[in-house]
Amino acid sequence: MSVTRSEERKAVPGPFRSLGGWMERPEDPQPELEGDVSADVVVVGAGFAGLSTALELAALGAKVVVLERECAGFGASGRNAGYLAGSLGIEFEMFLKRVGHAKAKNIVSFYDEGVAYVERRLRELGIDCDYNASGVIRAAVHPSQEKKLRESMQLGLELGSSASFLDSAEMRARGIPPAFLFGCLQRHGGTLDPGKYVMGLRRAALQAGVKIYENTPLLSYSEGPIIQCRTARGTASAPNLVLATNAYTPQLGLLRDKVVPLRVSAIETQPLSAAQLASLGWPGREGLVTPHWTMESHRLTARNTLVVTTKRLAYVYGSQTPNVPDNVAYRELATALDDRFPTLRGLGIQSCWSGYISLAYDALPVVGATGAQGNIFYTAGCSGHGVGSQSLMGHLLAERIGGIEHPLLAALRHKTPSTLPEPLQWCAVNLAMGLLNTIDERVNRRSRTLG
Ligand SMILES: Cc1cc2nc3c(=O)[nH]c(=O)nc-3n(C[C@H](O)[C@H](O)[C@H](O)COP(=O)(O)OP(=O)(O)OC[C@H]3O[C@@H](n4cnc5c(N)ncnc54)[C@H](O)[C@@H]3O)c2cc1C
Repeated sequence: MSVTRSEERKAVPGPFRSLGGWMERPEDPQPELEGDVSADVVVVGAGFAGLSTALELAALGAKVVVLERECAGFGASGRNAGYLAGSLGIEFEMFLKRVGHAKAKNIVSFYDEGVAYVERRLRELGIDCDYNASGVIRAAVHPSQEKKLRESMQLGLELGSSASFLDSAEMRARGIPPAFLFGCLQRHGGTLDPGKYVMGLRRAALQAGVKIYENTPLLSYSEGPIIQCRTARGTASAPNLVLATNAYTPQLGLLRDKVVPLRVSAIETQPLSAAQLASLGWPGREGLVTPHWTMESHRLTARNTLVVTTKRLAYVYGSQTPNVPDNVAYRELATALDDRFPTLRGLGIQSCWSGYISLAYDALPVVGATGAQGNIFYTAGCSGHGVGSQSLMGHLLAERIGGIEHPLLAALRHKTPSTLPEPLQWCAVNLAMGLLNTIDERVNRRSRTLG
């Protein structure tokens, strides 16, 4: 019996992995906090932001305690697509008018600096995470995407972002799969294994004397010159608190009106055979993202699998972040895989997973300090571009706690627009995403008719 294309898409493409496809729970789980401890700084959340902050603070001689609800890397840091991308693909159009040209330029620098920062830290900390400094290409799948691609590139260039246009001949010369017609290349950055990167940060933090408590959710915290963080079986107290909890921050009662947690999903294929790899070409293995309104990302991994992410975002009512399968998204991603790599049809999917990013209505980072003493720091609003930026944020926050405000941190200071209350937010976000999906789907339908 033959299986039609629509029947194929009804099936769940592959097994769900609750921790994502890159990592397992660590073999040396750190104990839950029991009793009362004190430190110079308590950091909550052991992702790129929390671990980088802790490492930078430890290097300054601070005593640091990290509280992590699950294990390091459990959040987006352990389950992203692994693009270390600078300003390519950030939403210039969404923030330029709000912040003005000069500030926008500094924001672009912030994202680009994130790439250099991670590259330096990988070297300094001796982290091997299969980093391939291939650059990243924003690649169109239909000629109708050229205008948007070029306009966005031009705006980026005016703001100091470096990129060059690759026409079809240049794409073919690089061996980029033919579904990707032309693109915009940012030469710095590339792809890495985010599981290995976050575990490398964890290892380095432990070696630097940072005390990490895993399986230790922060339940509440008090304000004051000494902040007391309450967990199920203990307390951690310090004169400074860093909430590096990104999409989960609204659940702590902070930034509810500033960031929207969005679920992003991913699928990973079985490893490609040597023959499949050879027929694919793509020797540079550049990370590819598309200029759809909700982008697709397609990349090869060091283990010769393909990882496809994004395409469909989901918002859960009340800013909740359940760690559950999103089969609709996985089917959509499987369709994108078939569309972009028709010669690989039938390649199995070895895992599907989802995670949460946080987005402000202006798509800019949300970083600052709160509390009566201004000693509760937070960072969120990574908008899906956090591999570089949230790592660099650790450096900036550590300096800030030490009393120095880096110009790049100052550049991020702006008024974040307020989000809508429920149920308006649920309606508005779903309406906007539905609209954008419809536009993207029109492009996809047209791209299937190309020869
Ligand atoms: C599928 C997917 C693909 C992505 N692809 C890319 C990409 O290719 N490139 C890119 O730049 N970005 C990408 N991103 C975004 C990127 O992963 C994030 O911006 C980045 O990892 C955020 O890091 P973080 O440390 O701020 O947050 P997180 O990694 O989310 O860390 C927050 C941590 O806080 C912990 N926590 C939450 N609440 C509590 C509590 N109450 N007590 C204690 N701990 C708590 C969580 O368990 C978690 O470990 C992607 C994200 C997803 C989900």
